Amino acid sequence: AKADGRNSYKFFDADINARAMENLLISSALRLALERDELVLHYQPRVNLSTGKISGVEALVRWQHPELGLLPPLRFIPIAEETGMIEAVGEWVLKAACRQMRQWRDSGLALESVAVNLAARQFSRPDFSERIADLLEECGLEARYLELELTESMVMREPERVVQVLRELKSMGATVAIDDFGTGYSSLSYLKRFPIDFLKIDRSFIADIPDDVDDVAITSAIIAMAKSLGLQLIAEGVETQAQSDFLRRLGCDHGQGYLFSKPVLAGEIERMLRSENTN
Ligand code: C2E
Ligand code: CA
Ligand code: CA
Ligand code: CA
Repeated sequence: AKADGRNSYKFFDADINARAMENLLISSALRLALERDELVLHYQPRVNLSTGKISGVEALVRWQHPELGLLPPLRFIPIAEETGMIEAVGEWVLKAACRQMRQWRDSGLALESVAVNLAARQFSRPDFSERIADLLEECGLEARYLELELTESMVMREPERVVQVLRELKSMGATVAIDDFGTGYSSLSYLKRFPIDFLKIDRSFIADIPDDVDDVAITSAIIAMAKSLGLQLIAEGVETQAQSDFLRRLGCDHGQGYLFSKPVLAGEIERMLRSENTN
């Protein structure tokens, strides 16, 4: 039994090493990918449920790998978070999204905001809000066009500091959304204290409405609570007209999901906005 234990321990060890090696490989390939400009942003529209119009877009990163093809974020973002490469990747995403937004505004498109996902490591830098301010200036973009998406665990980690950072962002004019709401740990009293603009209801709650009574109860409660705190709501993963209608009746402000559009390239967003205006 002792020998077995040792063997399985060794095996486990080798496994960890292989994984660490693979992570290192992906991470160093990612460094090159940044230099070679292999990352691309796709944008998913967010639709105002009462008007049916696009109110904003969310930037979602992909890696156009020369051999492996288009890689989804889950294939490289978690690794980049572990190895620290996420700071460079996150910076690239912020810059690319702000530049694109500036271009859209310059060409007269009435898009309200571009939302960018932040990683914990990015947000926990002591100079985070200064970096955002510098970046906006560099891109010539007004802060009100930038929305930052944070998760519950990111804001709950160091609430005192987070309140301070969010106040700084808010005073600049940027907006803040809590992503995947309902899946993490968060306290309602903090929600009230944090200067937050949007709650994004996680798509796991949306998937089975209006049929699943528990999900309907949870979603209704989130919407009622958020409204009473003066927050705007975005439902994620809206795939059917029935979900969209139901959410609108519950008072949910915005929806995002395949019903409206998958994440697409910037040119496609522009086409959608232009055809909205001619309708
Ligand atoms: P997320 O922020 O929750 O983004 C929404 C994800 O749901 C996207 O997956 C999107 O394509 C997918 N989605 C949208 N509508 C629907 C729908 O109707 N049904 C279903 N089943 N899925 C839908 P994606 O692009 O693969 O991104 C996955 C996650 O990767 C994101 O989840 C986000 O956490 C992370 N991510 C993406 N881009 C970035 C980034 O630039 N930085 C960081 N730190 N994380 C990112
Ligand atoms: Ca998000
Ligand atoms: Ca989300
Ligand atoms: Ca998610």
